[in-house]
Amino acid sequence: MKRIVFFLIAVIVALGPAAAARAATLDSRLSHARLMFIGAHPDDESLAGAVFAKACIELARPCHFAVMTTGEGGNCSLDDCSPDLGTIRIAEMHRVADRYGASVSFAGFRNFPNTGSEDTAWLQTILNDWRTVTDPVHWIRQQIDRFHPTLVFTVDPHHGFYGHAEHILTGRLVFEALGLAWRTGTPVVPVTTVVSSPPEALYVVKNRYWAFAPFVGRDPEPVNERWAVRQSCNGSPCIDWAVNIAQEHASQRKDGIGLFAFVGRFIRWMYLWRIDLDSLPPVGREVP
Ligand SMILES: [Zn+2]
Repeated sequence: MKRIVFFLIAVIVALGPAAAARAATLDSRLSHARLMFIGAHPDDESLAGAVFAKACIELARPCHFAVMTTGEGGNCSLDDCSPDLGTIRIAEMHRVADRYGASVSFAGFRNFPNTGSEDTAWLQTILNDWRTVTDPVHWIRQQIDRFHPTLVFTVDPHHGFYGHAEHILTGRLVFEALGLAWRTGTPVVPVTTVVSSPPEALYVVKNRYWAFAPFVGRDPEPVNERWAVRQSCNGSPCIDWAVNIAQEHASQRKDGIGLFAFVGRFIRWMYLWRIDLDSLPPVGREVP
């Protein structure tokens, strides 16, 4: 009997730290976090807006939005879209960042119209164009090295929430910038170096909503964490903050932002793929 008790105690002691590591939920990390969202377009940050409302507004944590393009290739919902859509969307993104108390930076890569194609050849075409400006992986690493986020959020590198090639590409570039090995036909080069101070975790915002599936598909698994978007942010549901602030993207009202305002009322969960970077080797990391 003594032996069994000793064995059980040994098992509990051995599993204790691992169990604690697994229990590092997003909520437990936000109170000391520095958050960065890396997206393809001004307004992509709204996909994680509820978490940013909690961290940047209620908890007053430092937040940064890194945006690959100025979204000039999209549609404009305004009657007067002068001087041009890119200029308008830069101003909208700055207003959003101000509302969150966040900083913002733009890489200045070209925004191609969304063709709906997720082909590797199309991703490569966009990547080749972006590389004429600067190496996008290098730019992302610079952003991380300057801001030192503890948590990085981005879009899904398989399906990009709704199949937008620039979302998919951005997700893959973020993986590469963080030294995460990619195994599914990426158009980006193999990982050889990493950022100087890696964040604790990467969170991929996943579209797992069954209601979207017939229209825009769903991001594939894995999803290993859900975050309750209707929890309170300074007395209001966090998702309400996100929807409200997203209205600053007025040029996108007839596109994604209008839809977000509608579906935001029904959303209960943000679906996340959490990759704990501090538990992985520093280079050439296979994503679990
Ligand atoms: Zn987008």
